Formats: sequence, C-alpha cells, structure tokens
Amino acid sequence: MSWFKREDNEIVNDSERTVRTEGLWVRCPKCREIIFKADLEANLHVCPKCGYHFRIGARARIDALLEPGYELVDLDLRSTDPLEFTDLRPYKTRLEEARRKTGLNDAIINAVGNLGPIPVVLSVMEYSFIGGSMGSVVGETIARAVDRSLETRSPLIIISASGGARMMEGIASLMQLAKVSAGLARMDDERIPYISVMTDPTTGGVTASFAMLGDLNIAEPGALIGFAGPRVIEQTIRQKLPEGFQRSEFLLEHGFLDAIVDRKEMKHYLIDTLGWMNQ
Ligand SMILES: [Zn+2]
Repeated sequence: MSWFKREDNEIVNDSERTVRTEGLWVRCPKCREIIFKADLEANLHVCPKCGYHFRIGARARIDALLEPGYELVDLDLRSTDPLEFTDLRPYKTRLEEARRKTGLNDAIINAVGNLGPIPVVLSVMEYSFIGGSMGSVVGETIARAVDRSLETRSPLIIISASGGARMMEGIASLMQLAKVSAGLARMDDERIPYISVMTDPTTGGVTASFAMLGDLNIAEPGALIGFAGPRVIEQTIRQKLPEGFQRSEFLLEHGFLDAIVDRKEMKHYLIDTLGWMNQ
C-alpha cells in the first residue's frame, strides 16, 4: 500500500511542517533558549529565562502602561520630504513603505490617559518606522506633547527608541533638537515633571536632546544608549572601549542614568515616582 512507502515528497512535507511551526517560537539572543511566542508576549516580551528585553512596538508599550480608555492624539502629521531626498531609494518611497508596515504616519505616537490614578501625556517612539529616526514630524509631535502637558499640567513621559536624527531631512531634522529642548525647558520653569525612559536603542540626536533632559532619566536593562557609535569613538580617541560600554548598566554606574527599571516593573515605578514628584 502506498502509505507505507516514504516518498521524497513526504520529506518535503517535513520541512514544510517546520516552516509552519517555527513562527510560534523565538530564540532568545542572550541565553539562546527557545521560547514559546505566546509566553514571551504574556511576559511583555521579556525572556522568562534570562530577563533579556526584546524590542517592542509603541502601541504595545502604551497598552502596557495606560489604563483602558486612553486616547491616541497628534497622529495626522506627515513629512513633506522638504529636500526631495534620494539615497538608494527615494525618501518618499521609504516613508510610504514604513507607513504601510506600521500603520503610522511617522516614528512616534502621542497618547493621553491615566497611568494608574495619574493623568499623563505619553509620547512613545516606534523603532520599526525608519529606525525611530527623528525628523520634523517626530520633533513636532513631541513639541505637541509638551504643549499638552503644559496646558493640562500633567506629567510627560517620553519613551525613546531611536537611531537618532533623520538624515533624509537634513537641517530640518537637526532643528528638532533645539525645538524640543526649548519646550522641555518651559516644563522645567513650570515645574511639571518629565520622565525620560530610554529603551534599546537610544542614540544620536535623540540622546543629545530630550532623552537626557528628564527630571529623571531611566532605562530598560541592557539598552544601547549613546551619541556616536562605538566604532566612531574608537577611531576618534584611538582607544579600545571597555566591555558593555554604552549599555544601561555601564551608564548607570558612571552617573548618566538615575535608574534601570525592568519592563514589568515600569508601570509601578512610574506611578510611585510621579506620586512623590507631584507632592
Ligand atoms: Zn533569554
């Protein structure tokens, strides 16, 4: 009977089965354990074996922090590609692809809602949108988050995940550093709390502006945080950099961060901290 015979096409079926099931599992890049995807999601994308923090999208972060009923705002801004920039592909094409992939107009989402009992303005960067780079839209969206905080006297939390300034917008991108820094200075004058949460990675112009300007600057474990990349620094200073340079733990040890907070503790940490900051 034919079903006793192992045909070549059955071997092919085996590999098809592997393809069908492998989407359900992920390998942790740190401890190399294979993790069931649903377990990882239930654990806020933190490896249950070793605590490695996987990157997650902006929407998942908002869901993890704010109470149901929050509102997404300032989502309508779109870059006009002022330089008509073309590198390997036109910037316009990259924007369209990123919009399709993420369902967002740019690399950031503003939300207003309650963090536990505290009304807050939350601004979260989306790394999967052109590396979370900051162009005119990201800068303007953060400026609007600042305005919302000032109007309502609610604390501001910005969660960064960014490769830095968006080179395709040239100087318009660099101008955002000054604009958002000026807005945050106004919050400082008004004594409204601003907490900066840095996640993997937070680099370049974002580190050089709002990410390091918090009343508290905190980070997730193991996040890459820096201005220039390690290779550029090594070539400039002609020295080998120490192990773990530009990771959260190194930065905390050297006084650049106030705390490292596990993703699963983040919500309670922020509620507690804003509680005493508001007193
Ligand atoms: Zn792990």
